[in-house]
Amino acid sequence: MKIAVYLIAAVLFFFGFMFVVGAQGAPERFVVGFILFAAGGVLIYLTKVQPQYTEVTHVQKIDLSGDVQLEQMKCASCGGTLDKRNLEVKAGAIFVECPYCGSSYQIEEAPKW
Ligand SMILES: [Zn+2]
Repeated sequence: MKIAVYLIAAVLFFFGFMFVVGAQGAPERFVVGFILFAAGGVLIYLTKVQPQYTEVTHVQKIDLSGDVQLEQMKCASCGGTLDKRNLEVKAGAIFVECPYCGSSYQIEEAPKW
């Protein structure tokens, strides 16, 4: 991505150079060359200044009140102990899939365990 921007900037610099050199006293060509130089400079400036926030974080937090309470979590239908691996976050809701009885259900907003 960054390399592509540098390539575009290099092309802009090249054409800018060609226009300025080939201006031969024609002011509009000189202006075009200057604009190309400026555009290339702005491109490089943007890549340098812009922080590289290309990484999009797709972290789905299972926001429960700590591991201690999580260990005490029990299946609603069979009473088997559940751990983090049995939890899954779908569309912002926490789902439980019990490894003992195979039942899966959604945990309510105010869990009582
Ligand atoms: Zn169960």
